[in-house]
Amino acid sequence: MLHLTAFLLASCLPSAAEIKAGAAEADITPPPGYRMSGYFRERLNTGTRDPLHAKALYVEQGDERAALVFCDLIGVPAEVVAQAREIIERQTRVPGDHVLVAATHSHTGPLYYDVLREHFHRLAVEKHGGDPQEPFDYADQLAKNIAAAVKQAHDAARPARLAAGIAQQTGLSFNRRFHMKNGKVVFNPGRLNPDILRPAGPIDPDVGLLLARDAAGDQPLALLTVFALHLDTLGGSEYSADYPYYLQRALRRDLGDKLVSLFGAGTCGDINHIDVSSARPTSERSETERIGNRLAETVVENVDRLAPIGQPALAVRRQIVDVPLQRYPPQQVEAARRNMAKIGGKELSFLDQVEASKIMALELRGKPSLPLEVQVFRFSPEVALVALPGEVFVELGLEVKRRSPFRTTLVVELANDNPHYVPTRKAFAEGSYEVVNSLVETGGGERLVEAAVELLQRLAPSQAPKR
Ligand SMILES: [Zn+2]
Repeated sequence: MLHLTAFLLASCLPSAAEIKAGAAEADITPPPGYRMSGYFRERLNTGTRDPLHAKALYVEQGDERAALVFCDLIGVPAEVVAQAREIIERQTRVPGDHVLVAATHSHTGPLYYDVLREHFHRLAVEKHGGDPQEPFDYADQLAKNIAAAVKQAHDAARPARLAAGIAQQTGLSFNRRFHMKNGKVVFNPGRLNPDILRPAGPIDPDVGLLLARDAAGDQPLALLTVFALHLDTLGGSEYSADYPYYLQRALRRDLGDKLVSLFGAGTCGDINHIDVSSARPTSERSETERIGNRLAETVVENVDRLAPIGQPALAVRRQIVDVPLQRYPPQQVEAARRNMAKIGGKELSFLDQVEASKIMALELRGKPSLPLEVQVFRFSPEVALVALPGEVFVELGLEVKRRSPFRTTLVVELANDNPHYVPTRKAFAEGSYEVVNSLVETGGGERLVEAAVELLQRLAPSQAPKR
């Protein structure tokens, strides 16, 4: 009798509304011959190794709705995100500010925005009267494709169960900044360089996982993998999603060929795949495949051990942080304008080319500060995802996770805009490539961290001790 009473009481308690989820992908491969992004020279596409996608995960619980989109691109500018959100608001009931649009940071996709695109595009127009590399407006089409993927995921939504957790992966990612014997800090000093003293920063071995299964058939619908490792393992002039292509291929073998494998770049502004203690060459197809397969093994080993989200509590919050941009005196801006003609050549050093294009990127934005968006998605009282703009240094993502009141916190970068690198204060003092290429003033990254932690604290129902 007591048992029955307890059972009746328990069943009368208000239970959380059920989760619905759907996933879809849209092909965003540009036409052949499009300009490619990733390096400081004009590089024209010669074919497709594997197609590029925008992959969408839609989640709803009661009146709360959210969409997370990950694109096989170097970055997605705020203008494209705004256009996609506007279409999504019209076509679904997902509020624009509940939409995350992130880039995986593939270096084998199109160059379709920012200063180098403007530069090469202008040269082409001057020379040909039009730009033969851009047969249509890729940015406009991308916004429509992102919205189409979200609409399709939204329309496919069905009762679902979520699970999340963090696996560990070592041996694939390396901090690429090093203290050298001459007292300087440099990025990518080269394999077996005898002047290396030690890495200038840590890595983040976390593999953040968020799985959505069909509640009826238990079939995995979508799996988000977040890992902090720069997507520049391939090179060449063919389109490719880089190692997440192999990750998805391997995951589909184990979890079903309908699985949508979404990849979120963890904070990896200063992390890449080059192990300077080894002579093994990289930037080969085999290396890309090895990384994707190894990461997939780790994911598959852990996917059945993920903690089920028994008490879902979907919520999305964001904060706009007005981050001051670097400023240059007029004569330096004029020098940079002249130096743009030397981009891709041998006349100007690499870092001088980077600085010239950075200064012109600041001119292009034409304002003293940039409104940058920090987003937090809460899936349960224990699981949250943080989205930060730009190529964020690993220390900043680690700091967000260390201070997060949630047991499981995933942090993705290159979300909702790409204001280039977001280094730490420490890195600004040390210098080298990422700092030369950054737009934000020193301290901008730490301000994003503060905003993320504040949002996490606001969304956390209690200060449960972290596992
Ligand atoms: Zn990068």
